Amino acid sequence: MTMTDTIPWAITAAQAARARPCPLCEAPPGAPCQRKPAGDHLARFLDAYTAGQLTRACMAAVVGELVVIDRSVIVQDGAR
Ligand SMILES: [Zn+2]
Repeated sequence: MTMTDTIPWAITAAQAARARPCPLCEAPPGAPCQRKPAGDHLARFLDAYTAGQLTRACMAAVVGELVVIDRSVIVQDGAR
């Protein structure tokens, strides 16, 4: 990993997803689904995507980093 790997979409995607309540665990807007390490359910990203707040490219990038694809998977902060 280099500094250039820390690309803005990761921050944007996480913020867009976290701006909405989680449809799975009902974490309120602004709060992560999981505290340590901080991360959010994939369901939250899907929710933001279907609401048009996340681009297809962002969604593809998020999903592309996952080994297991399930709405209950936690997408960790900074793991991307
Ligand atoms: Zn959640």
